[in-house]
Amino acid sequence: MIAETVDALVRDVIAPRAAEIDRTAAFPRDVYAAMAAAGLFAATVPESYGGVDIGLRALFETVEQIAAASASCAMLLGNCGDGVGALVHGGSDEQRARVLPRIADGSAIPCFCLTEPGAGSDAAALTTTAVPDGRAWRLTGSKLYITNGSVGDVFCIWARTEAGISCFLAERGAEGLLVGRDEDLLGLRGLPATELHLDGCRAELVGSDGDGFRLAMATLDEARLNIAACALGTARGALTHALDHARTRVAFGQPLIRHQGLGFLLADVVTEVAAARALWLQAIDAVAESHDRAASIRCALAKNACCNAAMRATTEAVQVLGGAGLTRDVPVERFFRDAKTFQILDGTTQIQQLIISRHLERQGLPF
Ligand SMILES: Cc1cc2nc3c(=O)[nH]c(=O)nc-3n(C[C@H](O)[C@H](O)[C@H](O)COP(=O)(O)OP(=O)(O)OC[C@H]3O[C@@H](n4cnc5c(N)ncnc54)[C@H](O)[C@@H]3O)c2cc1C
Repeated sequence: MIAETVDALVRDVIAPRAAEIDRTAAFPRDVYAAMAAAGLFAATVPESYGGVDIGLRALFETVEQIAAASASCAMLLGNCGDGVGALVHGGSDEQRARVLPRIADGSAIPCFCLTEPGAGSDAAALTTTAVPDGRAWRLTGSKLYITNGSVGDVFCIWARTEAGISCFLAERGAEGLLVGRDEDLLGLRGLPATELHLDGCRAELVGSDGDGFRLAMATLDEARLNIAACALGTARGALTHALDHARTRVAFGQPLIRHQGLGFLLADVVTEVAAARALWLQAIDAVAESHDRAASIRCALAKNACCNAAMRATTEAVQVLGGAGLTRDVPVERFFRDAKTFQILDGTTQIQQLIISRHLERQGLPF
């Protein structure tokens, strides 16, 4: 039933808008509203706070399904999970009751604010500071590439206190929360990547003081499965076009796919995507069971495999289409640009390799 609902949404609302969203890089409020009306954002929130529990697998498969038409639109849903992660894992009952129902019905857009100009991969090097101010806190520093920052309503912001790294909650319009410019990016266009300036920003603590790094990491496991879902959908979208072309385009007297050079290329690419998808499904099961270290390793393996498979699949899809692959008449070049972003956000390829190689050093093979 969920897949059918999403199928109709993709066909009637998302697919017709995908190229224009990419071209104009304008945030698709109409698509956000349609996704909210279909109840999709509720799947990122626990039932007790206005959400609907469809399970992680159905949620991520929904993200994958949307990404086959538009990765930017898939990220509207994917990023919603990132944005609420800290509240779900560490917020007080009062904070959850106040914020989460608005996320669930789509009336508030959440943002995950960790990266800074001087701290990306090395998130623990962040320099934004937080000092107590009565019952609230005051945050000072800058954040960069914050998805949906310029359209966001609820901001989970990581900052340094005397106890270590902590997570804070601020709402749009909070004193000292200044929204800067959106980057003009290669891929995921239409999804704002925003600079935020915190000039004594008034915010409240989420969880306990000093527990922020744990909350960020718990959020990042699921965030990586979301990005992997986007990557798999993007690969599927690109390969669908590549296969259509390879089956119908004739060169040297036969369809392209009968030329072994291209047929075997497609066979290898599809093998890589299918294998990556299997790893992703294993990681989803592991995270659904527990947020332990073993699950984190599976998420790193899945993100690494899916994002690399999507990069290869979209690169080869452009190749299979020849000149047509470079034009905007078909969305393959968009899938190719979007795929590159997945190797960077929510932990780059090298950071996944770092997580995996440290595990290999300490504990050996993860399977
Ligand atoms: C579209 C988009 C959306 C984003 N959304 C968000 C968001 O909502 N919230 C948020 O907090 N952040 C967000 N980010 C930020 C993203 O998570 C960071 O860009 C990413 O973590 C990399 O950080 P960096 O850009 O500072 O690169 P750097 O950390 O400076 O890395 C540069 C290069 O060095 C490599 N490198 C770094 N350390 C090592 C190492 N130890 N070993 C080997 N290689 C290394 C990296 O892999 C990379 O190739 C987003 C980014 C993008 C592009």
